[in-house]
Amino acid sequence: MSNPAETNKADHSRMTVSDNTAIQITSMNKWYGAFHVLRDINLTIYEGERIVVCGPSGSGKSTLIRCINRLEEHQAGDIFVDGIELSNDLKNIDKIRSEVGMVFQHFNLFPHLTILENCTLAPIWVRKVPRKEAEETAMHFLEKVKIPEQANKYPGQLSGGQQQRVAIARSLCMKPRIMLFDEPTSALDPEMIKEVLDTMIALAEEGMTMICVTHEMGFARQVANRVIFMDQGQIVEQNEPEEFFNNPKSDRTKLFLSQIL
Ligand code: ADP
Ligand code: MG
Repeated sequence: MSNPAETNKADHSRMTVSDNTAIQITSMNKWYGAFHVLRDINLTIYEGERIVVCGPSGSGKSTLIRCINRLEEHQAGDIFVDGIELSNDLKNIDKIRSEVGMVFQHFNLFPHLTILENCTLAPIWVRKVPRKEAEETAMHFLEKVKIPEQANKYPGQLSGGQQQRVAIARSLCMKPRIMLFDEPTSALDPEMIKEVLDTMIALAEEGMTMICVTHEMGFARQVANRVIFMDQGQIVEQNEPEEFFNNPKSDRTKLFLSQIL
């Protein structure tokens, strides 16, 4: 796999959005009331990058990725996604939401809809895709996540790992350009973690731009081209996995790694 972060290193300081920039965040700050949750975030992510975000609980990881698809508002600085500045413009919000897929810790499938219906709902009602085409797309992605035979079952009839793979397939049905994962395996029993990680690995191998909040450091080593460490609302350190794990720079990173590895 090529390493876009590496090849674009010289461009890291530029302020304008270029063709291969997927996400650009500059001087971004967010508060929850008086609580300063994200502090001066600067981050550029290029197309095809596989980013792992890690850090202690409460460090702002979820808030950061929720700002990227506008589930949360930031109060200062800029976030560009595919060249679109996130603002209060509703048209932009819809466009961002359709370009950026998100998979959560809890699968958030609709329990009263079949797996197939879960996957076709948004394409039919939001994207106005004809039902037959939406179903064909859904089956394509259910095959990709290796559970086409579950299409007519309900979420409650599936294991946690299967449900999470449906959640990934459902996101892919919207044909996103960027996928965000927020601790997608942390609610799963150990024996189901691998099947979800394997699905994410396959997606990475196809070149999907991915930002994954996860504590699966094996996954980070294998798949990420860049690991970002957050603490207390800041990006403390980022590096390619080899350097990040073998030669962490900051004391906070060292402490965190000593606790989880
Ligand atoms: P992480 O995902 O790294 O565990 P979060 O982004 O969920 O961290 O939370 C960062 C901080 O913001 C935590 O202190 C959390 O309690 C606080 N927080 C998260 N969501 C809200 C909210 N909606 N209102 C107020 N505080 C929040
Ligand atoms: Mg979180």
